[in-house]
Amino acid sequence: MFQKSKKLGILGGGQLGKMIALAAGNWHFPIKFLDKKSDFPTARYAAEFVEGNFKNYDDVLAFGRTCDVISIEIEHVNTEALLQLEKEGKTIHPAPEKLILIKDKGLQKQFYADNNLPTSAFQLLDNEEIVKKEIANGNLSFPFVQKTRGEGYDGKGVAVIKSEDDLRKLLSGPCLIEELVDIEKEIAVIVARNEMGEVVSYPVVEMEFNPVANLVEFLICPSDITEEQAEVSDKLARAVIEKLDLCGLLAVELFLTKKGEILINEVAPRPHNSGHHTIDSCFTSQFEQHIRAVMNLPLGSTKMKIPSVMVNLLGADGFTGEAFYDGFESCLNVEGVNLHLYGKTVTKPFRKMGHATIVDKDLEEAKRKGKFVKDNLIIKTK
Ligand code: ADP
Repeated sequence: MFQKSKKLGILGGGQLGKMIALAAGNWHFPIKFLDKKSDFPTARYAAEFVEGNFKNYDDVLAFGRTCDVISIEIEHVNTEALLQLEKEGKTIHPAPEKLILIKDKGLQKQFYADNNLPTSAFQLLDNEEIVKKEIANGNLSFPFVQKTRGEGYDGKGVAVIKSEDDLRKLLSGPCLIEELVDIEKEIAVIVARNEMGEVVSYPVVEMEFNPVANLVEFLICPSDITEEQAEVSDKLARAVIEKLDLCGLLAVELFLTKKGEILINEVAPRPHNSGHHTIDSCFTSQFEQHIRAVMNLPLGSTKMKIPSVMVNLLGADGFTGEAFYDGFESCLNVEGVNLHLYGKTVTKPFRKMGHATIVDKDLEEAKRKGKFVKDNLIIKTK
């Protein structure tokens, strides 16, 4: 059947692409990927892999013309080419205009405000000089958070400004200024929607931070919040995908504030780090769900089979070069530990090289095992 099915093309061939390719492999599904080099994580597992730059107009256009449906595993793709492909009759999920809105943190934030979706107070400013002027004029006061409107990723386009002294950390260019939220917990909900208008949502997950490094240490499913808070989060995530009128997967990052409010932080219209655990702990993985959603297939059950803890496996500090996985075998010995290594050839300090999902009915036990994996699986050079 799938030989005759429409062909799906994905822009991007990193770890998210690899996990989409593995899910597609279960169905022998016709799928192809576009990314720079055929030693990227996806290439080995993709039915087809095309070398090219997803930021380049001509590369995206040529690639898209060989597909029926086009989707992404990263937002920062050439949207002009996608708009042209849309004109030529291709199905594109998420739609290019939605991608343009989401890629710009300012437009995204304005969308929440226009649709009465709860988010922190904000203003949009043209550059860092204007930020300083607004402070001098008394229109802006410390503390606040500054985010670049373009390509931020993993906190790199975010500055927390608490005092005059922090002004040297100001990022240049057009920016979004947000109120500094008093965060109790950072949580996320992944939702999916198809052209038939079906919507499904995964259980709420929670990020647990390492208090010393201030980095996400564990991603826990289900989150330890009240039933009511979980319901509000779920409703919000569904409202965002409906109001965006978006097809595909949408990861909705939320803040639970100290006062008990739930605010939308930002969204990503693709599989997301906060959904990696679904491979091992839910009925349908987020990667299979993405394929189902963009191909307008029936959506899969999002029910949790077993609680889980997900740990990102980062390159050890001080090592750059060909990756070597020290402690791999001792981790394989631990019941419930599922290792997912992305196969990136080069490790760098704190680069995401893989993740481990630990499934266990007892979340405390899962965390203990997660800590064991973190301490024992060291990604370095030989
Ligand atoms: P990125 O897209 O780079 O992941 P985010 O917008 O998610 O950027 O911000 C990164 C982190 O910064 C969040 O996970 C949160 O810890 C912190 N943060 C972001 N916005 C705020 C805010 N308004 N108030 C307090 N902390 C914030």
